[in-house]
Amino acid sequence: MEYTAPKSRYDAMRYARCGNSGLLLPRLSLGLWHNFGSITPMETQKSILKAAFDNGITYFDIADNYGPPCGEAERNFGRIFREEFSACRDELLIATKAGYDMWPGPYGSYGSRKHLTAGIDASLKRLGLEYVDIFYHHRPDYETPLEETCDALTGIVRQGKALYIGLSNYRPEETRRAARLLRENHTPCVIHQPSYSMLDRWIEEGLDKVLLEEGIGSAVFKPLEQGLLTGRYLGGIPEDSRMVRDPRFLKQGALNEALLSKISALNRIAAGRGQSLAQMAIAWVLRNPCVTSALIGASRPSQIEENVRALDKLHFTQEELGAIEDVLAAKAKGKENA
Ligand code: NDP
Repeated sequence: MEYTAPKSRYDAMRYARCGNSGLLLPRLSLGLWHNFGSITPMETQKSILKAAFDNGITYFDIADNYGPPCGEAERNFGRIFREEFSACRDELLIATKAGYDMWPGPYGSYGSRKHLTAGIDASLKRLGLEYVDIFYHHRPDYETPLEETCDALTGIVRQGKALYIGLSNYRPEETRRAARLLRENHTPCVIHQPSYSMLDRWIEEGLDKVLLEEGIGSAVFKPLEQGLLTGRYLGGIPEDSRMVRDPRFLKQGALNEALLSKISALNRIAAGRGQSLAQMAIAWVLRNPCVTSALIGASRPSQIEENVRALDKLHFTQEELGAIEDVLAAKAKGKENA
């Protein structure tokens, strides 16, 4: 029997306007980069998606290459959507992306019209959908003219295969140029997807200003640094953690003494605010006015339930922000913030 979402699902979530567009994003969104490939049981995948939707998360972020293997997250999401969520299509924002390596040969990657046109068609087929809500160019392509990439994205919207265009991993100046080209085509870029966390602050060096000036919203990825900015690794490396189960992008070497010392110090600041470290890490990215939504991942429903409660306390005092800055600026001696 298809699942029925609770009537209370929109009570606690907050929604924010995505840049100058008409689109409202939940302040917390769920990404399917990990935990939706062939190594995660289907029942776990379903329970994560249901927990998200039960808690008012309407935005589900996928890409053609998410798995493993590539394509599997789209296939699995499509299957779960058909089995459980098909009655809710108009309540969901489903995004996918193209631009990373998907098939062999010169057309299997990057930003040519050839790649993007084939990419969206293959994604829609795997998802079993007629259209996605947001289609992102996943990374900039410095060899294809930006005009060609933007015209291809515009064509995808005009053909009804996507409602909105997004850009991901574009630096400030190329974002500005692409925004202008897409505006001229009357298919504006409504959203950017950059990485952003207390440990990864590159967007503060100019992209944040460009997004605000251009009226582009953002869903910032890895706000928890794949679990490092949570209590997950404070007592060692758990067997059921990403670092053990799926360490493709999170190697054990990342967890050195200096980083652990920073995480412990941040954990104490979070406790002083009455929050978990995961909740504070989410509130911290949401404090930046250019951020519309924090794009998290989860390996179990309880993480979603904990993380949405970040919205109960988004405000930071100047003292708290100062204490966080001190921890982040501390040199890697390992002990000074312990
Ligand atoms: P996060 O930084 O949110 O890390 C998620 C991981 O942190 C979870 O899988 C879980 O790991 C752990 N975690 C989450 N909540 C808690 C909690 N409350 N307590 C303890 N541990 C917790 O994000 P992701 O790295 O998953 O990335 C999020 C999304 O961002 C992706 O799914 C994708 O949609 C997008 N993304 C986009 C990219 C791009 O280039 N555009 C690149 C990368 C990501 P564990 O398995 O250990 O439980």
